[in-house]
Amino acid sequence: MGRALIIGCGGVASVAIHKCCQNSEVFEEIMIASRTKSKCDALKEKLSGGKTKIETAQVDADNKDEVVALIKSYKPDLVMNIALPYQDLTIMDACLECGVNYMDTANYEPEDIEEPQWRAAYEKRCKEEGFSAYFDYSWQWAYKKKFEDAGITALLGSGFDPGVTQAYCAYALKHEFDEIDTIDILDCNGGDHGYAFATNFNPEINLREVSAPGSYWENGHWVEIPAMSIKREYDFAEVGHKDMYLLHHEEIESLAKNIPGVKRIRFFMTFGQSYLDHMRCLEDVGMLSTTPINYEGKEIVPIQFLKALLPDPASLGPRTKGKTNIGCIFTGKKDGKEKKYYLFNVCDHQECYKEVGSQAISYTTGVPAMVGAMMLLTGKWNKPGVYTVEEFDPDPYMEALNKWGLPWQESYEPVLVD
Ligand code: NDP
Repeated sequence: MGRALIIGCGGVASVAIHKCCQNSEVFEEIMIASRTKSKCDALKEKLSGGKTKIETAQVDADNKDEVVALIKSYKPDLVMNIALPYQDLTIMDACLECGVNYMDTANYEPEDIEEPQWRAAYEKRCKEEGFSAYFDYSWQWAYKKKFEDAGITALLGSGFDPGVTQAYCAYALKHEFDEIDTIDILDCNGGDHGYAFATNFNPEINLREVSAPGSYWENGHWVEIPAMSIKREYDFAEVGHKDMYLLHHEEIESLAKNIPGVKRIRFFMTFGQSYLDHMRCLEDVGMLSTTPINYEGKEIVPIQFLKALLPDPASLGPRTKGKTNIGCIFTGKKDGKEKKYYLFNVCDHQECYKEVGSQAISYTTGVPAMVGAMMLLTGKWNKPGVYTVEEFDPDPYMEALNKWGLPWQESYEPVLVD
């Protein structure tokens, strides 16, 4: 049915590519293109023998012209950006230039947060909007008119969170509520990899996210709090009791716009004490900094150096045992009555590893990346412009999640988070 150019060949992309190959009726042909071509070739080798025709290429997606040249030579129906958020805008520019649909799994943030033009816009946004995360949707929403005029679609953030969590919200609104009052997104990783400290996905992106101030949406505005200063305990199905902390998260920004009348949206993620102790220490000594320093005549970025020391997230797969449980708890009204509802997925690290050779964090992101791409390639989601997941009909996406490895469960009597 279609031909996809997949940019990136890391932890998440590897799962998405496995899933595309399982779904060869839709993904007849794919090209895996990344900065390090040897990784693309190794994955192609592993997946050869299936029905999907795989090609590989080297590309530096920070360079728009390289992406344009690749799109022009491969002529894909869709570009799947599963590299890093740093590349979102160059890849969107290339898609616009070539008239090709685009999707990604995380919204834009710059690699260099000291770059003056970006910094000025960031400081203005912090003041006007009231949250200080380095990532936000404004940069990609600014492409809306251009994508509309070009008659192409950009689907933003089709991972688990963002991604599936927004499909859950759209589904709850369509089928379970007349009005949603509150949404609590709960992201629990009950997995244990046996290391004192490691990150489950790209360390730089992960550590930036969790060391930033938390924030939530309440009564029409952002409330910002110091990092990790709101803690709750929750008893997660199939995982058990875990401490979780309120974080800023990108889907809150789009949900606040797209769920009419919503009064509060919060995001919580579980962390173990060892992870938090290590992170605090690394932050205190400056290892989480993205500002380059000069070390013995060579410029290094502390967080990138740290990344080189930490275990590669891809290597955690065989060691990680336990389950993830990610979902959304809703309160609101249906037919004039108060109602609560919980939609969630439980995913087993070892089962994921058996199936695709990755742990559940990459799996829970890679499957929805394939599913989002499938929605675009099959024309089920098709409107020109730039959209997040909750802006489309959730039903075909939810059905595909059940089919392709992330079945959801529901509860009408969830314990609420205070
Ligand atoms: P990895 O670091 O494992 O992989 C990133 C890949 O992108 C690597 O193959 C890397 O190449 C490639 N890459 C980096 N820079 C460039 C470039 N300039 N040009 C071409 N390729 C490049 O990251 P993950 O797989 O963990 O994460 C992928 C994405 O998924 C990220 O955007 C992350 O934020 C997002 N994510 C989303 C989640 C969600 O639920 N929505 C959850 C988890 C992650 P090389 O091998 O050379 O380094």
